[in-house]
Amino acid sequence: MTTKASTVPAYAAPAAGAPLQRTTIPRRAVGEHDVLIDVRFAGICHSDIHQARDGWGKGIYPMVPGHEITGVVAEVGSGVTRFAPGDRVGVGCLVDSCRTCDNCEAGLEQYCTGGSVATYNALDKNGEPTYGGYSTRIVVDERFTVRIPDGLALDRAAPLLCAGITLYSPLRHWKAGPGKKVAIVGLGGLGHMGVKIAHALGAEVTVLSQTLRKKDDGLRLGAAAYHATSDEATFEALAGTFDLIVSTVSAPLRFGRYLGMLRTDGALVNVGAPEEPVSLNLFSLIGDRRTLAGSCIGGLPETQEMLDFCAEHGLGAEIEVISADRVNEAYERVLASDVRYRFVIDTSTI
Ligand code: NAP
Ligand code: ZN
Ligand code: ZN
Repeated sequence: MTTKASTVPAYAAPAAGAPLQRTTIPRRAVGEHDVLIDVRFAGICHSDIHQARDGWGKGIYPMVPGHEITGVVAEVGSGVTRFAPGDRVGVGCLVDSCRTCDNCEAGLEQYCTGGSVATYNALDKNGEPTYGGYSTRIVVDERFTVRIPDGLALDRAAPLLCAGITLYSPLRHWKAGPGKKVAIVGLGGLGHMGVKIAHALGAEVTVLSQTLRKKDDGLRLGAAAYHATSDEATFEALAGTFDLIVSTVSAPLRFGRYLGMLRTDGALVNVGAPEEPVSLNLFSLIGDRRTLAGSCIGGLPETQEMLDFCAEHGLGAEIEVISADRVNEAYERVLASDVRYRFVIDTSTI
């Protein structure tokens, strides 16, 4: 209530596919239930790249990506009860939702049926565009703000706000744990958190990567086995093996081949969001009563649960911290699967 609307520096894509460049953006005044956050770190998710290049369509420009945000509370509105200045906090993919539908009431805001608001590339309830974490400050309702537990560094915690929760949620929902064989497809930002979390949950983890280039890392992160999907023999050798496969691949996948690696009643859960549709021979599903499913990030209560779980198990992301002027180069490296395993922008360099 005290701070007026402000203008803050940010990195934005001025148009679809244009390189990101430094600019300034408006931030609203701190409302009754808002927290003003000094952003310290912003992870680079592959979704930022899909959207900055308008791969999913309907992009709103200029676009300030970034939905893996950590920082410190600078100020709170008069009605804020859960946060105070100085608190270490995070913001993920959502900054608002209808708050009244069944899913919102159940803490599944990511499946809000009344209209959720994404952290960027969306319009808020006043019709104003939302701008993400590649900026120095953000104003967010406290309901969409989570606490970063002590013991989690803000830089390594940032990718948990999307990559962490996007894997934690399906791994919990499909009951990854002791006695379960889980495969993670793609060892990138999401995938490497999937390996860490599934291992911490007690599952036996296998990485299915395009090549064996990152095998040492995969085993160090907690995988018991690592196979190359460029080798067709992998699919034959692992036929009927897994209870759960989670695909994090950003490009269309030959799902039929991967379904064949599931046991009877196994599930292949896709979290990758490719820009093109895929086709599927349905015989790969009916033969062994298999399930093909999807999963989208996680709601606010589960995001806090995931952060607490990661703090308890000492799990942060493997990161490469970069200055903001290297964001376009980082995008190219993510597209080339040359990331180990998340780029994180130090927002003090904006
Ligand atoms: P990323 O860091 O680029 O990781 C994706 C990995 O997939 C790559 O590292 C690579 O791993 C593998 N891969 C890439 N191209 C491939 C291809 N053509 N064939 C087979 N494997 C390929 O991306 P990310 O940030 O983890 O995001 C992954 C996807 O999830 C993106 O589409 C993103 O938009 C989506 N996403 C969805 C949600 C959700 O809620 N469902 C949330 C966040 C992101 P290897 O080198 O090991 O093969
Ligand atoms: Zn993301
Ligand atoms: Zn709702």
